[in-house]
Amino acid sequence: MRKNIVAGNWKMNTLPSEGVTLAQEIVKNFKDNAVELIIAPPFTHLSEVSKVLSGSAVKLSSQNIAKELKGAYTGEVSGEMLKDISVTHCIIGHSERRTYYGETDEIIAEKIQTALGLGLTPIFCIGENLEERKAEKHFEVVEKQLQIALENVKSDDITSIIVAYEPVWAIGTGLTATPEQAQEIHAHIRAFLKQKYGEDKAENISILYGGSCKPDNAKMLFAQKDIDGGLIGGAALKSDDFLKIAASF
Ligand code: PEP
Repeated sequence: MRKNIVAGNWKMNTLPSEGVTLAQEIVKNFKDNAVELIIAPPFTHLSEVSKVLSGSAVKLSSQNIAKELKGAYTGEVSGEMLKDISVTHCIIGHSERRTYYGETDEIIAEKIQTALGLGLTPIFCIGENLEERKAEKHFEVVEKQLQIALENVKSDDITSIIVAYEPVWAIGTGLTATPEQAQEIHAHIRAFLKQKYGEDKAENISILYGGSCKPDNAKMLFAQKDIDGGLIGGAALKSDDFLKIAASF
């Protein structure tokens, strides 16, 4: 069966030294083996944080990956580089990358292929913005995002992907989708995956919720049938809050 997962996206926060301390606190206090815990610090932190996580159950993710494998791509970081320092996951298609850095569904599709080709697990983000939600286009929007990004993902690879549904209007705003709103769209996402890959595969894909998920609302969200955990932003920067969320299943 699919895994319960809680992943922390630190975004562009903490200095490398602070990140090491945060990772140490998480490793020291994480006891729950019923959930897979992943942290995604900035690139500058990964080498040192990787040493902190070594021998622990906590996994390491990047927040992005180059779509190319190597070469003249100034400012980019390749999947091979990440693997060499024991990074196992990478966030792909976060709404901040889509909004501020022009990442399209097509670019995201390429990044997913690159990650899968290298054996890295994509944490693939989708979600509608406020206008789209108000216009009741959210189902349509996520379906299109899934369709394009997963177009060339083969059946054998699909369970190596973690999907994160993150309504853009809930990210960092304090607004959270209600458990019912989130469940409804998670079920829709799973139905899409079932139609494309069959029931067995769809039932084995973890679909995370992200968007102002906190210790006080995680329990209700994670209790929903098709919500398998969370991608956490702000609350991932305090080890207590992050671990409380992870203990919410
Ligand atoms: C995120 O950016 O992935 C996120 C969910 O942020 P926050 O928890 O701060 O809303």
